[in-house]
Amino acid sequence: MSTPLRVLIVEDSEDDAALLVRELRHGGYDPTFERVDTSAATKTALEQRAWDLIISDYSMPQFSGLAALALMQQLGIDLPFIIMSGTIGEEIAVQAMRAGAHDYIMKNNPTRLIPAIERELRDAKIRQDRRQADEMVKYLAYHDALTALPNRTLLHDRLQQAILTAQREKKPVALLLMDLDHFKEINDTLGHDRGDRLLQQVGSRLGKTLRESDTVARLGGDEFAVLLPLAESEHATLVARKIMKALEEPFVIDNLPIAVEASIGIALYPDHGENADSLIQRADVAMYVAKHAKSGFMIYRPELDQHSPKKLALMGELHQAIEHDQLRLHYQPKIDFKTRRVTGVEALVRWQHPERGFIPPDQFIGPAEQTGLIGPLTEWVLQTAIRQCRTWRQAGTSLNMAVNLSTRNLQDPQLPRQLAKVLDACAVDAGCLELEITESAIMMNQANAMDVLTRLNAMGVGLSIDDFGTGYSSLAYLKRLPVGTIKIDTSFVIGMATNENDRVIVRSTIDLGHNLGLKVIAEGVENKESWQQLRDWGCDAAQGYYMSRPLPATDLTTWLSTSPWGFAVG
Ligand code: C2E
Ligand code: CA
Ligand code: CA
Repeated sequence: MSTPLRVLIVEDSEDDAALLVRELRHGGYDPTFERVDTSAATKTALEQRAWDLIISDYSMPQFSGLAALALMQQLGIDLPFIIMSGTIGEEIAVQAMRAGAHDYIMKNNPTRLIPAIERELRDAKIRQDRRQADEMVKYLAYHDALTALPNRTLLHDRLQQAILTAQREKKPVALLLMDLDHFKEINDTLGHDRGDRLLQQVGSRLGKTLRESDTVARLGGDEFAVLLPLAESEHATLVARKIMKALEEPFVIDNLPIAVEASIGIALYPDHGENADSLIQRADVAMYVAKHAKSGFMIYRPELDQHSPKKLALMGELHQAIEHDQLRLHYQPKIDFKTRRVTGVEALVRWQHPERGFIPPDQFIGPAEQTGLIGPLTEWVLQTAIRQCRTWRQAGTSLNMAVNLSTRNLQDPQLPRQLAKVLDACAVDAGCLELEITESAIMMNQANAMDVLTRLNAMGVGLSIDDFGTGYSSLAYLKRLPVGTIKIDTSFVIGMATNENDRVIVRSTIDLGHNLGLKVIAEGVENKESWQQLRDWGCDAAQGYYMSRPLPATDLTTWLSTSPWGFAVG
């Protein structure tokens, strides 16, 4: 039985081609062949039909063996290429082999032909298998085995590409991250096999919802991503809605209808991130918030960051920080304009993280509120500050102590009782304590705030409104609160030097506070000019870097005895 062989013969002589075919038949092959002798015909033959082998003459009137070889290579085809020539000399043969021909045979001595073909076919097969294996490896490196969708690596590549294109064309790119709700429960109840099939169906439904040019990827678990090149936020929102709609119809697995819901987070280049990593991270934050808000989908906003998984990990550690004594209080003095002396200090919390170093309060107070950790944190701050107050008192320094409360603290009906206990245990008079509450915290808790503040006030604790001017509180309302002091926000005081508007706000806040019978403190006094201006306007007290930054207790003790604003201790 002869072996079929598809051979392209590049040869100008019909007779030589016939001889060659006869040779092949003798050698046990059953050749199907075509004879060509021009570049165009060779190209057509290579492009339109599949071949096992090319046997080419070296020189022809209109064409040459080397040109045929180059053409094959240009077309990206890898076939055994054997040159068969009557004229070829040693030197030319070497040149042909160098160019990539696999062998050369003399027309007048064809005995080597059949063994050469056998060997080259075998080698070609090996090369082809290796190529396929390589392609498979490459495919697997860039695709998810379960759904055959692009994986995280490929998504990342395409996202980078899309960003480059968008940069050139000055257009946005949208990235959607999607996570199935309750997939773990589905997986646990129905089994992993059905869970896998569900993921496959979700993947294919996503694919059908989108355009060819969009990339749907599976990032792992029940997380999918959709990349929309050159898409505005309206389009991204539309696609998110389309996806939610597409998922509404239940999936059917083993005749079981399974309802699936998803949460989608959207981030856009360049508004939310400049590169692939930051976009992925931000879409992830938006997705996370969408999931918890049960809102379906959400576009990233910077405020969402406080909910990010990274922040939440930090919150896990904050819990420990409170117990393992990683929190510190720094104290910033408040100076009375009339006496030019310190009257009290504000306690400001810092976190001395063992690996991340010093973390400022702005980075963990907000998230601590979200996670309820603000309760134990405030308790720690109150205890530490009040104890410090006692220590200074025992050393003969009577300083009032101010502590910041946050929004959530005002919702805690236990707070006044807790506070009374600490004051009692330290034998510190309630009148020495001042609690600072922001305008917005009060406005967010109007009903509770009135109750809690009234109780605190009844205990004799002083109350002040922090960051005054940044919120939208109604004055009529503030007037009814048992508050003794307002603190003008740092931003206005710092802005005073350059911004007329800020000057007007500061000045009228001082007047307004006085008209309501309140004391007015300015925060953010950074230089002599501000100090003098505020004094001239009749402001009562000041706090700021000009006098002192917030300091650890021992440094503040030194400051008290050395600074002109302080007073000798003991
Ligand atoms: P805040 O209550 O308005 O505190 C004043 C902030 O202004 C402090 O920042 C202080 O270091 C800073 N500051 C003081 N003088 C100047 C100045 O002259 N120039 C400038 N540029 N800044 C000045 P800090 O310590 O980073 O605290 C930030 C915020 O974190 C505080 O704002 C407060 O809202 C919150 N916070 C700090 N400690 C606590 C706490 O124990 N509990 C609660 N709930 N919040 C706290
Ligand atoms: Ca404050
Ligand atoms: Ca403030």
